[in-house]
Amino acid sequence: MKTNFNRREFLKVTAQGVAVTGLAGLVPMSSVTSIAAEPPKKEIDAVWITSLIKDYVATSPDNSLRNKENEKAWDEPLVGFAGGDDPIFQFFKDDIGSFYWTPVEAFNMIYPDIHVAPADLSIISFVLPHTDAIKADLKKKKDIPSEKWIRARFYGGQFIDILNKHIADILTKSGYPAVAPTNSPVKISKKYGLASHWSERHAAYAAGLGTFGLCDGLITAVGKAIRCGSVVAQIKVPPTPRPYTDHHAYCLYYAKGTCGMCIKRCPAKAVSKSGHDKTACLNQCNATSAYAQKQLGLPKEAYGCGFCQTGVPCESKIPVKI
Ligand code: SF4
Ligand code: SF4
Repeated sequence: MKTNFNRREFLKVTAQGVAVTGLAGLVPMSSVTSIAAEPPKKEIDAVWITSLIKDYVATSPDNSLRNKENEKAWDEPLVGFAGGDDPIFQFFKDDIGSFYWTPVEAFNMIYPDIHVAPADLSIISFVLPHTDAIKADLKKKKDIPSEKWIRARFYGGQFIDILNKHIADILTKSGYPAVAPTNSPVKISKKYGLASHWSERHAAYAAGLGTFGLCDGLITAVGKAIRCGSVVAQIKVPPTPRPYTDHHAYCLYYAKGTCGMCIKRCPAKAVSKSGHDKTACLNQCNATSAYAQKQLGLPKEAYGCGFCQTGVPCESKIPVKI
């Protein structure tokens, strides 16, 4: 299956690790892992991969806000798995646009010479919840995001890239070639506007970790104040069951016709009963970068918003009884 994507350009651009955007609904670019497979192959299962991810989040010095207190950016993650032959990935492609990658396409961007069937691949997805301190800091705010939140968005985002790479590196070195495909330019989807070649939130949805809310954020067992990451690997891991059939099952607005707190919390009016306006959200996010740079002394790539993720019923849990 061909994509309209130029691999050389992809590797060149992603190697620069440029952040394109930071919407609740979009995925930032980061570095892509490309490592030759090395024998010997060791036995690896879901428990082992889950421990690998949890241990790294718990112990890595890179999981940090890089403030003077050296606070953590992320609490203990959730981990889920999806099969590379899950038809949901073709559904995503058909629904979002032809530029959207299936797992095989993402894998073959880095390993064009390894001929894999979809069933040979697994998608490893993780959800990283913000700490209570970070959420509490933003919850108090109404229009300008808190410093901890912006630091979590920026340095926490860098950590996700590092974690994605760590997982892919370890698996590859263990004999299971793996890639971290998030790291792609944004495209325009006819149906959804701004979109990426690979969506961490969609991978997490496929891996049974959550459903989408009115503001497009993913509502998970640890709430919506989260970010996700994923790796596609040539390994067979049993998929995590999806305890939902409706992609909005965990949102009070869609499930019960109530709530709408994310509409009230959004300073840009980018959320309404019709859903999430990605362009208005992007403009709001971009507008915070000058504040982050001038007032907080952070790099020019830093920005943040996330009001729709805090001070709402789905902040730290699934608000719908299931
Ligand atoms: S705040 Fe309410 S309406 Fe918005 S995503 Fe969460 S549950 Fe849904
Ligand atoms: S609060 Fe509004 S502008 Fe901010 S991230 Fe959420 S949807 Fe975007």
